[in-house]
Amino acid sequence: MSVRNDLREARKQLAYVPRALQLVWGAAPALTAAWGALLVVDGLLPVGFVYLTRLLVDNLVTTIGAGVSWDTIRPAVLVAAVMAAILVARELVQLAVAWIRTAQSELIGDEIRRLVHARAYAADLAFYESPDYHDRLHRASTDASRRPLALLENGGSLLKDGVTLVGMAALVIPYGAWVPLVLVLSTLPALYVVILFNRRLHGWWEDATAERRWAGYYDWVLTYSEFAAEIRQFDLGGYFKDTYQQVRKKLRGERLRLLRDESLARLASGLLGLVVTGVVMAWMVWRAFLGQVTLGDLVLFYQAFDRGQLLMRSLLGNVGQIYANSLFLENLFEFLDLQPHVVDALSPREAPAAVREGVTFRDVTFRYPGTERVALEHFDLSIPAGQVAAIVGPNGAGKSTVIKLLCRFYDPGAGRIEIDGLDIRDLRVLDLRRLSTVLFQSPVPYHATVADNIGFGDLLARPDRAQIEEAARGFAHGTQLSVGEWQRIALARAFLRRADILVLDEPTSFMDSWAEAEWLDRFRRLAKGRTAIIVTHRFTLAMRADVVHVMQRGRIVESGSPSELLSHRGPFAQSWSAQMQADTATRD
Ligand code: ATP
Repeated sequence: MSVRNDLREARKQLAYVPRALQLVWGAAPALTAAWGALLVVDGLLPVGFVYLTRLLVDNLVTTIGAGVSWDTIRPAVLVAAVMAAILVARELVQLAVAWIRTAQSELIGDEIRRLVHARAYAADLAFYESPDYHDRLHRASTDASRRPLALLENGGSLLKDGVTLVGMAALVIPYGAWVPLVLVLSTLPALYVVILFNRRLHGWWEDATAERRWAGYYDWVLTYSEFAAEIRQFDLGGYFKDTYQQVRKKLRGERLRLLRDESLARLASGLLGLVVTGVVMAWMVWRAFLGQVTLGDLVLFYQAFDRGQLLMRSLLGNVGQIYANSLFLENLFEFLDLQPHVVDALSPREAPAAVREGVTFRDVTFRYPGTERVALEHFDLSIPAGQVAAIVGPNGAGKSTVIKLLCRFYDPGAGRIEIDGLDIRDLRVLDLRRLSTVLFQSPVPYHATVADNIGFGDLLARPDRAQIEEAARGFAHGTQLSVGEWQRIALARAFLRRADILVLDEPTSFMDSWAEAEWLDRFRRLAKGRTAIIVTHRFTLAMRADVVHVMQRGRIVESGSPSELLSHRGPFAQSWSAQMQADTATRD
C-alpha cells in the first residue's frame, strides 16, 4: 500500500468528521459553544505563563546583585503574582470544562442512541433476517455510537493544544522562523505511523465483526436465563465456554500482534524526534554562550520547545484518534443511512375505513432477499370480507410468508396484494398495518405487566382497564406464565386491536387441548364481522373455518369448505385421515 493511497483513504475517512461534529452541535449547541470558548482560554493560558517566565527570569537576573528592596523586587513579584493568577485560572477553567464535558456527553450519547433506535425501527424486517445487518447493527450500536463523543474529546484537546502550540510557535519565531517548522517536520513520521496503524486496527476490527459477535453470543448463552435450563441438562456449558475462549484467543492474538508492530514503528519515529530536539537545543545553548541570547531567552526557548514537542505529540495522538474515530464513524453513519425499501408511496391513497371487499393476492411471486428459491410462485388467493379462511400445508410451504407480505414486511417481486381493490403499496405503511391485527408465530413476551402486554395491542386507542380485561377474559390466568399462557396473552393483545383483518399464525400451537377446545368455542364469536386469516397445522382449528386453502411449495393446491375438502380425496382429506388414524392408533 503506497503512502499516497494511505493519505487518500485518510482524506475520505476524515470527511465523516464534519458530520459527526454537526451531530454533536445539534445535540448540545449552547454547551458546545461554551466548551469551545473555554478550551481556547485554556489553550492560551500556558502561552502567557511561558512568556511571563522570561520576564521573571530576566527581572531576577537584573535584581540579583542590586540589593533587596521593595522597589527592586516589585517587578518580579508582580510578574510572579500574575503567573500565580494564571495557574488558578487554569484550574477553574479545567473544572468548568470537565463539568460541561459530562453534561454534553450525556446529551450527545442519548441523541445518538435515539438516532440508532429510530433507524433500527425504520429498517425493513429483511434487514433483521440477514447476518450482514446484524453485523452492521452490532458495529453501530456497540462501538461506533460512542465514537462521536470520543471525537469530541479529541477535537477539544486538538483545539486547546493547537491554540497553545500556535502561541508557543509565536514565542520561538523571533529566534528563527525555521524553529517551529523543524518542530512540525520532525513529527511527520510519527503522524504517518499513527494513521497507518489506526487503519490496520480498524481493518482488523471490521474483519473480526462476526467473530466478536459470536463471542458475545457465547457469553450470552452462558449467562442468560433463557439458556440456563437447556445448557445444564445437555451439559453444554463446557462446549460454549471453550468455544468462547477459542474465539477470544484468536482475537486477542491478532490484536496483540498489531500492537507489537505499532510499538516498534512508534519507537523508531519517536527516536527521530528526540535527535532533532537535541540538535536544536544544542544550537540555542551555543548562542547563549556567544551572548546572543539572555538567560530568560534560553529558559523561554527551552520551555516553549519542550512543551512544543509534547504538544506536537499529544496533537498527533489526537489527530490519530480523530482518524481512528472517523473510521468507526463510517460504521455509524453507514447504519444511520440505511434506507428501508418498504416505504410509503409518494402520493399514498386513503386506507378504507372498513374492509368491505376483502383481501386478494394476484399472481404474486416472491423470493426472500439473497435467496434463489421462490417462497411464493404465481400465488393467487382471495379472501372476501367477513370470511374466516384457514391456510394449511406442510412446513416451508410459504404460509407465514403470505402473512409477512400482507403486513408489508416485504414487497413481492411480481404481482400485487390488494385490500378492497387497493394495492397495499399505495397505502401508508402505518395505515395498512392498522387495518389488521396479527398474532405472530412466536409472539413476544414484553417485560411488562400482563395488562401492559395486552395494552400494547393498541397503544393509539389508549385502552382502559375494562377493555384490557375484556380482551384478556379467557386468555390469561395466573402470574407465573407458561409458554401457552404467553400465547393466550398474545392472543388477547391481538384481539384488543379492533382491526377489520385478523391474522393468526398458529394461534393454538402451544395450548393444551382443553384450552384449545375452549378457545375454539369462543373463536367464531371473537372473529365475528372480521376477515380472519388463520395459518394452522391443527385440523381442529381448520375445521372451524369457512374456507380452507391448502398450500404446497408456494402455491394454493386446493381450496374449499372443510366438508367439501373432506369429500374430495385431495391432500387435505389425506392428511386428515392420516391424523385420524394416528389418533386412533394412539388410543388403541
Ligand atoms: P411452517 O409451517 O414451518 O411455519 P411456512 O409454510 O410458514 O412453514 P414459511 O415460513 O412461509 O413457511 O417459509 C417458506 C419458505 O421460505 C421456506 O422454504 C423457508 O425456508 C423460506 N424462508 C422463510 N423465511 C425466510 C427468510 N427470512 N429468509 C430466507 N428464506 C426464508
